Amino acid sequence: MTDRAQVIVGASHAGVSLALQLRREGWEGPIQLVGAEKELPYHRPPLSKELLSGQKELDAIRLRPEKIYADNDIELLLGTTALKIDKEQRSLHLHDGRVLQYANLALCTGAKVRQLPLALDSERVLYLRTAADVAQLQALAQPGKHAVIIGGGYIGLEAAAVLRKMELEVTVLEMAPRVLARVTSEVLSDYLTSLHMMHGVSIKTSTQVNGIQDHEGKLQVVCNDNTEYLADFVLVGIGVGPNTTLAETAGVSLDDGIVVDEQGCTSVPHIFAAGDCTRHPNRFAGGNVRLESVQNANDQARVVAANMVGKASIYDAAPWFWSDQYDIKLQMAGLNSNYDSTVTRGDPTNAENEGFCVFYLRAGELVAVDSVARPKEFMAGKQLIARGITPDKANIADEQIEPASWLKP
Ligand code: FAD
Ligand code: NAP
Repeated sequence: MTDRAQVIVGASHAGVSLALQLRREGWEGPIQLVGAEKELPYHRPPLSKELLSGQKELDAIRLRPEKIYADNDIELLLGTTALKIDKEQRSLHLHDGRVLQYANLALCTGAKVRQLPLALDSERVLYLRTAADVAQLQALAQPGKHAVIIGGGYIGLEAAAVLRKMELEVTVLEMAPRVLARVTSEVLSDYLTSLHMMHGVSIKTSTQVNGIQDHEGKLQVVCNDNTEYLADFVLVGIGVGPNTTLAETAGVSLDDGIVVDEQGCTSVPHIFAAGDCTRHPNRFAGGNVRLESVQNANDQARVVAANMVGKASIYDAAPWFWSDQYDIKLQMAGLNSNYDSTVTRGDPTNAENEGFCVFYLRAGELVAVDSVARPKEFMAGKQLIARGITPDKANIADEQIEPASWLKP
């Protein structure tokens, strides 16, 4: 057995799943998990939901209790940034001068927020990616204050819902003609816009921010149509990009993400990658894709762990996502890129009472399902997509037909 460790960089969803899976796959040597954040790893989704609202404390959303790392003999190096990979020596250089020798290295470096290209550097212009960001946001989020949110994506809408519940005035400015345009259809965008407006959020679409300036103790947000908004603070949620800074030091192939094959191997021997930072082959996307989700981070990481100990394993999981806004649970399965038709089940105008779903088809094949408060349809849809089954369109729309029956031959 080698003394070299399986070294993982990034102690979040992908990195933690990967470390624990290495033990399950039978790796008996050392495992070192390096993470730049000081915090014991935590679930990221509650940051814009239960943590921000104060429903949960940080200790209630840890990925695993501290004891699990000790029980599995996983050395946690938190508050530690990996700076450079020496691929010839198979070593990893850390910010404090330490050097780790690796048998294999897994890059689980995730994503970093896209910055607004504006000159103003203010403590009241915030981003939301880490627990530390939430603490900053909470300090400013007092009832009656006005929050301007730039970006009507997941972060923007989830934060808007929570901030409204906390009795702030909320304005969302979205560059695209509709909210959540990156991931969903017009039906869902329209439904979410109405939901937020009903709760008192002001949403302006097709609106781009040109500048933010100080104005008598407030922030003045100036848009391309010359509208201006006065804010006590601004939250920016305009997307993320893959964090490839460390990968670049080893010269691994990059293409808006670290390019990996279906086993999670990069172009450099002994270097693997998993999670938000990767671009990987995915049959549900019909090509290579970079996914930003907990499902992808966990499932891909487990496959990569198997490959790191020499058990050939292929990543082939059907993608799924969720979002909580007010009391509504959105659940999405599959990828709807390039869909050419949709079937709606239920009535989007009566969603508060009965929920609804949108099924997406491409060339007659079911490729994705978005559901609002319809867990049965979501569960059935997820399995249909994984198994490549497309029910008859009339059966999808017929509310008398139970979703589970779609799966029966
Ligand atoms: P990350 O979680 O980004 O973790 C990467 C880690 O690597 C970070 O801790 C970073 O500090 C560390 N790192 C990077 N470089 C280095 C280095 N050189 N040295 C040391 N450490 C390094 N997804 C869903 O599916 N459902 C949701 O409801 C949902 N809600 C979300 C809410 C919020 C507010 C956010 C921000 C994200 C949400 N997501 C959600 C997305 C989900 O959290 C990400 O897809 C997931 O965290 C990806 O996991 P990851 O491990 O690949 O990367
Ligand atoms: P996002 O979902 O990509 O949404 C960003 C939105 O901002 C997009 O609609 C984008 O429009 C818009 N935008 C971009 N530049 C803008 C500008 N200058 N002015 C106004 N709007 C602008 O990203 P996010 O909401 O920032 O979320 C960040 C990450 O966290 C993503 O990985 C996301 O998946 C994840 N997250 C997930 C969940 C969930 O799954 N429930 C919840 C929170 C966060 P265009 O599309 O036109 O660029």
